[in-house]
Amino acid sequence: RAKAEGRGRYCIATPEMNDIFRRRHEIERDLREAVAEGGQIHVLYQPIFDAEERIVAAEALVRWNHPILGQMGPETFLSIAEETGLIDRIGHHVLEQACILAATSGIPRVSVNISPVQLRQETFADEVLAVMAAHSLSGERLVLELTEKFTLDAGPATLANLARLRAAGVSIALDDFATGQSLLRYVRDYQIDTIKIDRSYVARLGTGDGTDQIVRAILDLGRAMGIEVTAEGVERASQREALLGMGCHGFQGYLLGRPMDPLRLAALSARKGVAQKSA
Ligand code: C2E
Ligand code: MG
Ligand code: MG
Ligand code: MG
Repeated sequence: RAKAEGRGRYCIATPEMNDIFRRRHEIERDLREAVAEGGQIHVLYQPIFDAEERIVAAEALVRWNHPILGQMGPETFLSIAEETGLIDRIGHHVLEQACILAATSGIPRVSVNISPVQLRQETFADEVLAVMAAHSLSGERLVLELTEKFTLDAGPATLANLARLRAAGVSIALDDFATGQSLLRYVRDYQIDTIKIDRSYVARLGTGDGTDQIVRAILDLGRAMGIEVTAEGVERASQREALLGMGCHGFQGYLLGRPMDPLRLAALSARKGVAQKSA
């Protein structure tokens, strides 16, 4: 308000805008503190299943246990973490926790979401390889999930990181598939190992609006190119059955398991069994 009343009058922020700025500022301040202190930022794991309902992988999903606001999901703080560079330390923590989970559980693979901001750091591949080495984890046990945002600035550093990690056996998954543009070119140019069909498609299966045909085409593409396909956001048995009928072999969603802590994941994998490790 003070600025708006001043002489220069460059800023005509409404009270609502001021609220948003203040809130953003507070989140940034608290996030800095959380990263410095540790303990508030933790990781949940959502199981990914094969057609026989055995666990093939677990996806690491970051959570922030804010001292006053409680548990917060990534939407509330990831963009702030990316803008401020805090994503590097948060991402490193998630990666380390995920590698520990893989090393100490029978889960065949862990999947970690990576921000394009991390991927363009020149030291990124080295950091990942160092964490893997520290926990004696082979590259085959790790999947990095990228959204197509990474292609916006897929400069030399990003490409070099991907090449080094792939050479170490790490797989690359393209997340939220079919929500953006030029997706077929990415699949070819970046040697994607796994496609994750976005949950907006899964939600519209069987509505007769063309979604089934698109999903079928993605599965055909996967088969033709030797790319694994996982469906995200499977919430109903009818969706799993429809996908299974179309030849989909990877399933993730609330129907089969919500994001959970390592103890619950261990109990679930003891009950459901894990798939044979892919060589
Ligand atoms: P994503 O990688 O596509 O992860 C799947 C999101 O869908 C997760 O939300 C998960 O909780 C949610 N989900 C899973 N199954 C279902 C379902 O059946 N129905 C519905 N409605 N939702 C389901 P979450 O954990 O809030 O994460 C949101 C996004 O934040 C992730 O989307 C990912 O892009 C990003 N993210 C999460 N953790 C990290 C991280 O450690 N680093 C980075 N860079 N990004 C992360
Ligand atoms: Mg993901
Ligand atoms: Mg996803
Ligand atoms: Mg998604």
